[in-house]
This record gives sequence, structure tokens and C-alpha cells, in this order.
Amino acid sequence: MRDPRYDILFSPMAIGPVTAKNRFFQVPHCNGMGHAMPLAHAAMREVKAEGGWAVIATEECEIHPSGDVSPYVEARLWDDRDIPALALMCDKVHAHGALAAVELTHNGPTASNLYSREVLIAPSHQPSKYGYPAQARAMDKQDIANYRRWHREAALRGMRAGMDIIYVYCGHDLSLAMHFLQRRRNHRTDEYGGSLDNRVRLLREVLQDTKEAVGHRCAVAIRFATEEMLGPAGIERAEAQDIVGMLAELPDLWDVNVAAWYNDSVPSRFAPEGAQEPFIDFVKKTTSKPVVGVGRFTSPDTMVSQIRRGVLDFIGAARPSIADPFLPKKIEEGRIDDIRECIGCNLCVSGDNTITPIRCTQNPTMGEEWRKDWHPERIAPAKSSMKVLVVGGGPAGLEAARALGQRGYEVHLAEGRRELGGRVTREARLPGLAEWARVRDWRLGQIRRMNNVATYLDSLLTAQDVLDFGAEHVVIATGCHWRRDGYGRTHGEALRDFVDNPAVFTPDDIMDGRLPDGPVALYDDDYFHTGSVIAEALRKAGREVFYVTPDDTIASWSAHTLDYRHIQWRMAELGVEQVVSHSITGFADGRLSLEHAWSGKPRTLDCASVVTITSRLPDDALYHAIAAREADWADAGIRTVTRIGDALAPGLIAHAVYAGHRYARELDEPAIDGVPFKRHFHTADASDILKP
Ligand code: ADP
Ligand code: SF4
Repeated sequence: MRDPRYDILFSPMAIGPVTAKNRFFQVPHCNGMGHAMPLAHAAMREVKAEGGWAVIATEECEIHPSGDVSPYVEARLWDDRDIPALALMCDKVHAHGALAAVELTHNGPTASNLYSREVLIAPSHQPSKYGYPAQARAMDKQDIANYRRWHREAALRGMRAGMDIIYVYCGHDLSLAMHFLQRRRNHRTDEYGGSLDNRVRLLREVLQDTKEAVGHRCAVAIRFATEEMLGPAGIERAEAQDIVGMLAELPDLWDVNVAAWYNDSVPSRFAPEGAQEPFIDFVKKTTSKPVVGVGRFTSPDTMVSQIRRGVLDFIGAARPSIADPFLPKKIEEGRIDDIRECIGCNLCVSGDNTITPIRCTQNPTMGEEWRKDWHPERIAPAKSSMKVLVVGGGPAGLEAARALGQRGYEVHLAEGRRELGGRVTREARLPGLAEWARVRDWRLGQIRRMNNVATYLDSLLTAQDVLDFGAEHVVIATGCHWRRDGYGRTHGEALRDFVDNPAVFTPDDIMDGRLPDGPVALYDDDYFHTGSVIAEALRKAGREVFYVTPDDTIASWSAHTLDYRHIQWRMAELGVEQVVSHSITGFADGRLSLEHAWSGKPRTLDCASVVTITSRLPDDALYHAIAAREADWADAGIRTVTRIGDALAPGLIAHAVYAGHRYARELDEPAIDGVPFKRHFHTADASDILKP
């Protein structure tokens, strides 16, 4: 039963000519599938509609080949042949009573045209942002007329596909409508440049064009960035207030957020739930039209407060809808504890940035709805009454135990430590990572309500214990540890001076509370966020820190999760000194010897200790001990012993959760010898892709 305090979240609201059944609004988000994988894309959107979201939007949708964003795979409405792919999504979304929305865009100088090879266009001559290091040409009046026509035609195509809401995109520094507003991109001297009135002209015209074309049937929304965090070089709140004032009643809906994307989808390490409120709170006071905004909202109380305090009408969500497509349904059914809360790790973003289907740390079914037929809430019942012993209660073991329990198996989960959660419990204690504990908490919450899953703490199992236990299936999810010897991408063998050196530490030491003496040289050959988190922990403990990396910049992979700039800002704030493009050649007597990656020039750093963040080794001794006794398995009743997660190959938390989930899905299923998922086969025409 729904808590009456949350009733307001379920009151319908009109958006122009259409009505949303509740206040849950899945705002546009990229997914790496887009126009290239329409069946997978539609299935992903469908589960969210099924999960209760009243509005389901596409990602950016290109309207013309001169605004091609390749290699990023977004939606596309270049011509009529693109309609069926989006019609499929609309049908699936409508089947659950939700509205479908498409976010039309022409990205002008922030397109790439790598695929189309068209010349980039922009308000004025300027360098491109993506694609080749070339330039975009200034648009003349004919180009402006063409752009308006392309947008109008795409809106009509969107309507024919079945879309209920057509967006004019003016956000994230990614669309011509926004580029014309920006003084740094618009140097025109005609009626489209100069004064704010002139810079707003094109946006107003496109909104009017769209209303005229489809406004009788579709709502017209604007996605508008109210702040670019660039000072006077970008759109600032004061100017945004004027713009919203000028266009207040023109669109049927204001979808407002901040730009660029790294300021919008900020990782939880750098921004809490609801962080955008100070930048968008003026909008509802300026327009009578409904307003949607985002803030990684997962708490229904916060959502209600946003509406009651007059900040938002609709609770916008990308990440919370990815982590839990059934979030609205769970609130509606009074199942608040079942909400699988987003942890703000931004691995979902890395799908788009690596041009591959979206994935999520919390929700292992994300992106697998079509190709593996995985549903976020449903799973096939157990096919046998066999008992499963899961050894290790980290994300892999916890998810395996939970999903096996959901299937109905008798599960026993043994954990060597006094607490569950493995790496997430330990990493969540590091600065800024507290929300990562949600990976553990959600799974534990689910498991505690299952009477077919037993958990045992303080139970460090040996091979004999496992043999004595009497389970048919054994899952080894015993995790991994950081190497101390410096082996990794750069050093193909152990660094002699690191072996058995008490002044060399690993992230495991820091997480266990063993802090090195300063000054500390932190050696990062891992390139993701761990180095910066450890640097932050050490600075907060008062140590002087040199952040050394053989890479040409720190934390390079974190660009894929939008952490990168925030990490750089945080390191600067904390006074962490960076020593990039240097590998280590020795460490003795408080002196670290380095070599420049390109010049080979030697250098030394005086430091009391070193933290190595290079690579990890599986904790697989238990697995090998059991494997060595295979002759005893039959007597012990053991049929299979399987390593999963970090115990098999150390990876991200998402890999461990996925491995646990996959194990549970595949137990008692025939082994697949070949491609273990459905694929899209591309033919000449988009409509062919949709044929079964
Ligand atoms: P993953 O990310 O693959 O889930 P983690 O390192 O997070 O791996 O978790 C592994 C867990 O397994 C840790 O909590 C660790 O204490 C536990 N563990 C390791 N060896 C044993 C063992 N022999 N018996 C029980 N638990 C173990
Ligand atoms: Fe949230 Fe991380 Fe999942 Fe993205 S990948 S939705 S940030 S939990």
C-alpha cells in the first residue's frame, strides 16, 4: 500500500495536449544502443514504462546528417526510414500507459560528422569540439532556414513515429539552439547575434516552428541549461533567468538542468542528491508551464519536497531510472525498501563514452533486456532443488546469493569477515564513496527477507569446510587484493625495491587503516578513480602527496565516467602535486627514482613511503585447493565449483555484480556454446533491422 505522503507523486499532470499519469519523468539519456540497436533500445525503454515512469524520453536524436555525432550512437531521424526504429519504442512505451518523448537536436559545431563527412556548421566560424581537429563554418541565412526546416521535418517524423512529446534541445553545450545563445560561440552581427533578444531569436523560432508543426497533437518541450559553470564565458543564471522569462509560456514543458554533461551527471563523490536546485529553482517562478529537473533523486521524501516547495512538477531521472527501472512502481506499492538506489558511480555513462551498450553497477540487467531477455524484476524459477554454497559476501557473492534466492534455490552465503559487502564495504569508507555501500545494502535488504538464503559471518572457509558442507553447487566469490610489487601495465615484472619493503603500501592497507608516513608518492598505473580517492584520503590525513603516473595525465579512464574534471579540481583543491609521464625505476633510502616516459630523463623524489595502485591478483587459493581435490567431489555431493567476480579476474564492482547475476541466471540452464546473446544484423534499410 502506498504511503499517502507520496500521493502527490502519483497525481496526473497535463503537458500541453497530453497528460502524464504521474510525476516520474525519465529524461533523455544516452545508452550506446540508439539507432544502431533499435530492438535493444526499445526493450530498455519498455522496462522503464512497465516500471511506472509516466514519460520515457529517447537520448539526443540527430535531425540531419550535417549534425552527425558519430561515433556516439544516439537516436536518429534523418529521414522517413528512421521512423520505424522509434515507432517500435513508442509502441512499447505506450503499451504500459506511458508517454514517449524524443529529444531532437542538431549539434552544429559539437557534432562530429565523422560518418557523414559533411562540413560542420555553427553560428560563427569556430573550431570543432569532437571529430577531426577541423573547423565549423558560419551559417548563412539559407543555412538557418534549412536548419529550421530539418528540425520541423524531424518533429513531424517524431509525431508519425508516435511520440507524444517533441523536445527542442538547448542544453549541455550540444545543440545549435544553445550555441546561438552563447556569446563565445555566436559572434554574429545580424539579427541572430549580439543582443540577448537576437541570440534567443533562433531558439524562439524553432520552438514556434515545432509548435506549429506538431503542437496540435504533441507537447513541445525545451531542455534548457540554466548554468554552464563557465562564468561570463558561458550561460549564467542571470542570463538564463532572462531567457526563461522571454520564452516562459512558449514551450509546454521546461526540462531544466546545468551544463556541460559533467556538471549535470556529477558522480556522487562530488555532488549529493538534489544538487541542481540552486541553479534551476527560479524556473517554476517564471513560467506557468510544468517544470522537470534532475538531481539523482532516489528518496521519495526528497521528491515530494521538490514538488511541495515549488521547485519541480516532475521528478526527472536518468541514473535513478537506470539503477531501478521500477522505482515509481515500488513507491506506488509502498515498497520503499525495495528501491535499488543509484550509487552515482557513472559507469552507465561509460557505455555511451565507449560506444557500447549501457551498463549499470546496481542493475546488472540494464542493456540486457532484449539481447539476454533479462528483466530487472523477474527471473526464472529454480529448475532443481539443489543447494548452493556461495563463498564470499562481496558484490559478486551477494548478487549471486540474492538472485539465486529469488529463483528459489536454497542458498548458503559464507563470509570470512565480520561484515558483508566485501570491497564495497571497505571502499565506501574512503572519502566520497559512502553511497557505494548501497550495492551491499540493497542486496542485504532483499536477502534478509528470503527464508531460503542463510548468511554466515566470520566464516573463513577452507577446502575441507566446503567439501564437508554438502552443497551441490559451490560459487567461489572470494575477491582479490592489490599487488604490492608494482607489476601492471607499465612494469612487466615486479619492481625489486618494492618487494618486502615496509614503506610500500597498497589501497588495501589504506582501507584497513594502515596509513603510510609522509611525504607519500602514490604510483597510479591503474588510470581510473582509485588513485585520486587514495590521494584524497592521504591528504585528509595530513600527508603530503605526490601523484605519480606513467600516463600523460592522472585518472585518464575517469573521463568515461565524467569524474575526470572533478578529480582534477579536487586534486588541485587538496594541493596534491602531480608528476605525470614518469615510471618508477627504484625506491631506496627515502628516495624514489623515476624516469620520464618520453625523454627517458631520470628524476628523484624524496618520500617516506609509496602507495602502489597498479594491478590486482585474485584471491583464488580456496578455488585451487578445492579444484585439487576434485576426486573427492562426488562423495561430498559437489557437482560444480565456479569462480566468479574478482576471484576470477579483478574488475569493477559492476563486473562483480554482473558475474553474480549471470551465475544465478545460468544455473541449471544448458551451456551456450557460441554467442551468448541476440545481436542486431544491419541491412540496407533501418526498417529491415526490425524484422524478426
Ligand atoms: P567481488 O568483488 O568479486 O565480490 P570482494 O573482494 O568484494 O569480491 O569480496 C570477496 C569477499 O570474500 C570478501 O568479503 C572476503 O572477506 C571474502 N572471502 C575471501 N576468502 C574467503 C573464504 N575462504 N571464506 C569466506 N569468505 C571469504
Ligand atoms: Fe547509478 Fe552507477 Fe547505475 Fe549509473 S551505473 S545508474 S551511476 S548505479
